[in-house]
Amino acid sequence: MATIKLIKGDITVSDTDAIVNAANSSLLGGGGVDGAIHRKGGPKILEECIAIRNRQGGCKTGEAVYTSGGLLPCRYVIHTVGPIWNGGKKKERELLSNCYHNSLKIANELNVATIAFPNISTGIYHFPKEEAAEIAIQTVQAFLEIENKTIQEVSFICFDEENYEIYEKLI
Ligand code: ADP
Repeated sequence: MATIKLIKGDITVSDTDAIVNAANSSLLGGGGVDGAIHRKGGPKILEECIAIRNRQGGCKTGEAVYTSGGLLPCRYVIHTVGPIWNGGKKKERELLSNCYHNSLKIANELNVATIAFPNISTGIYHFPKEEAAEIAIQTVQAFLEIENKTIQEVSFICFDEENYEIYEKLI
């Protein structure tokens, strides 16, 4: 069974094989962790995102695509689009779970051994943090138990103290 790690900090310095980006459906970059990844990763990541956009028209909520890591220490960036919290009746929970699940599926296809996740949707998209953490951990654990072939370590990287404390309690 793979190990699950909790880290407080900035995902752009992670030297895992893959990091996950909380992107938006345009794939053209934005604020928060998305902005940090594009800023530090350089123009190559955006070029690859634009090529994906031209091919398939962006990325739907809950789905994931990947690019290289550009100038970042990771080999791949897996871009997934989290749901915008809208009260909880718009399938937000299921869509958030899909983000983690589909990112891990791509990681397996890429033969990734180590992967790091940010706290998807809990920033600008306002998903309640406690519930988002429960969904993240449950989805990752279920994937590791049932479907995983290549991943040896999953890190949750919490940038804000509130998320870190929630994860510390749950893991
Ligand atoms: P979303 O639009 O999915 O809510 P945000 O980027 O606004 O995406 O926030 C998602 C999470 O990413 C938040 O918990 C925020 O604290 C965190 N975050 C912001 N910058 C970074 C970073 N450099 N590394 C890791 N996590 C980050």
